[in-house]
Amino acid sequence: MSFVFTPPATVSVPVVGLAERFPVNRIYCVGRNYEEHAKEMGFTGREPPFFFLKPANALVVIDSGKTGSMPYPSMTQNFHHEIELVVAIGTGGKNIKAADALKHVYGYAVGLDMTRRDLQNEAKKTGRPWCIGKGFDHSAPIGAITRAADAGDIENAEIFLQVGGQDRQRSNTAKLIWNIAESIEHLSAAWELQPGDLIFSGTPEGVAAVVSGDTLTGGVAGIGTLSVTVN
Ligand code: MN
Repeated sequence: MSFVFTPPATVSVPVVGLAERFPVNRIYCVGRNYEEHAKEMGFTGREPPFFFLKPANALVVIDSGKTGSMPYPSMTQNFHHEIELVVAIGTGGKNIKAADALKHVYGYAVGLDMTRRDLQNEAKKTGRPWCIGKGFDHSAPIGAITRAADAGDIENAEIFLQVGGQDRQRSNTAKLIWNIAESIEHLSAAWELQPGDLIFSGTPEGVAAVVSGDTLTGGVAGIGTLSVTVN
């Protein structure tokens, strides 16, 4: 087969302990999935989960033990961090039941759902899509994937983010409104999940702005940490 130009390389993420990499297909994100974050965004209660997407090439892939870098994006004065547990799908399927969902998980990673909050808020106000606030270039820093069997108790894991060594976000995945299995059930009712799909599972409270020069360090117990500097 020949192409009219060279196709882009497959986006991939390293896997802890393996030479082979995890090829990325799509990036789904769960909105408002921790109660205290839903409240700080002006909402309350357990609403049905909802989803948005980022392009796979929005990932900023950071090797274990390295500090990555991401550019301060255009068009924003309010560039927010959202630390998230990322689920890597290894086996696809549709209408997956929560009871079977974890069998579809290849592993887990630490990720940041970086957000141009001012543009997202404007989109909310005007009823427009969130793409410009959420799905921009370099909006999804991610660390290496830890295989599920090596990831410890992912349903009860501390999750945190520090900026310049100061705590901004600290919570526990036990506080997810829709846990990983339930999120997969809802997501796979709307899309047929495919191997290589990533799911950013939502962020706890404490989201706030970063500026050029800031270094963000976040982690999930049992998965590791992620460090990235804003340029
Ligand atoms: Mn998020």
